[in-house]
Amino acid sequence: MLPDWITRLRRAPRRAPCPTCGRLGRRKRLLHRRVRTLAYRRVAWLEVTYAEYRARCGCRKYFRTWPWDVPPKADYDAAVLV
Ligand SMILES: [Zn+2]
Repeated sequence: MLPDWITRLRRAPRRAPCPTCGRLGRRKRLLHRRVRTLAYRRVAWLEVTYAEYRARCGCRKYFRTWPWDVPPKADYDAAVLV
């Protein structure tokens, strides 16, 4: 049995643009999540570091970064495409 395959992904710059208008927001806190993905004949995990930001525009109060093709949980109101 092959060992688990873990890929680390970091999407948490100090500032990130609002997904609606692009205005930069400041990082509020770092978040981590481990997501199971598919790999050839082994268990693969994606360890994602992302962040929550305080928006400085009128679109929303907060937003979070989240890497593209991993589906975020439904409690997010926005995802930033990097
Ligand atoms: Zn905005």
